[in-house]
Amino acid sequence: MEKWPLGVFASIDAGLGVKLEVAHELKVPTIQLHAPHKATRTAENAKRFLDRLGGLGIRITAVFGGFEGESYADIPTVVRTVGLVPPETRAARTAEIKEIADFARLLGVDVVALHLGFVPHEPSESLYREVLAVTRDVCDHCRRNGQALHLETGQEPADSLLQFIHDVDRDNLFVNFDPANMILYGSGNPIEALGIIGRYVKSVHCKDAKWAVNPGKEWGQEVALGDGDVGFEAYLKTLDRLGYTGPLTIEREIPQDPNRQKAEIGRALDLLRNLKAKLVG
Ligand code: MG
Repeated sequence: MEKWPLGVFASIDAGLGVKLEVAHELKVPTIQLHAPHKATRTAENAKRFLDRLGGLGIRITAVFGGFEGESYADIPTVVRTVGLVPPETRAARTAEIKEIADFARLLGVDVVALHLGFVPHEPSESLYREVLAVTRDVCDHCRRNGQALHLETGQEPADSLLQFIHDVDRDNLFVNFDPANMILYGSGNPIEALGIIGRYVKSVHCKDAKWAVNPGKEWGQEVALGDGDVGFEAYLKTLDRLGYTGPLTIEREIPQDPNRQKAEIGRALDLLRNLKAKLVG
C-alpha cells in the first residue's frame, strides 16, 4: 500500500468535515468519516455508502465518533461536554460509540476513533478509574469487532496520555495524533509529544494552529495548514522517523464556510504533496 496516502476528514450527514463530493473533486484517495446520525447507521445505508465510495475511488481509514451536546466553545466547555469523561452522559454515549463501532464494521472499517474528553491527570482520582473502566469496555467491544480504538490527542500532555494508555492495558488502544490540538489546548510542543507517544500513533490529523497568549487557559487559533506553528516538514520527518506509513488526513474545522474550507484544503493537499515528494521521493 502507498505510504502516506492523503486524506480528508469527511462527513455524510453530520458534524464537521467536508462532503464526499469535495473529497472526490480534490482527488483524495482516503477519508476519515465522521459517524453519521443514528437514523443513518443502518446496514442498507452502509451498503449504499460503500457502493458510492467505490464509485468515487475513496477508502475509509477510520470512523470518528462524536456525540450530541458536545461543544468546543472554550476549554472549560470542552471539559464539561466532550467525550466519555462527563459522568451524566457517559452511559448513553458509551452505548452509542459501540453502535458506531458496529456501523464501522458494516463499512469494513477496523479503526474507531474519538475524543475521549479531558482525562484527569491524577491517577488517584476516582474519575480517572472510571474513565479507565469505560475505555476498557469500549476497547473490548471493538476487539470483538476486530477493530482498534484510536484516541484523539490534544487535551492532555503526551506523558499523561502515555500513562493512561499503559493503565488501560489493552492491545487495541492507539492514538490519532493531532498536532494542532496540542497547540490549541496548550498541552505541549506537538513534535516533542509525537516523539513521546509515537509508538502508539496509528493515524494522524494534518491540522495547523497558533499558540494562545496564555496556553491552556484560552484557545489557540486554528489556521490554514502551513500558516501555523506546527511546522509540517518537521512533523512529517518525525512521523517518518517513527516508521509511520499510514494516511495523512487533513482536518479543517470551518464548516460554516465551505468554499473557504475547500480552497484551504486544496492548498493543504498541495503543501503535503510537495513535502511527500521531497521526503519520500
Ligand atoms: Mg483532530
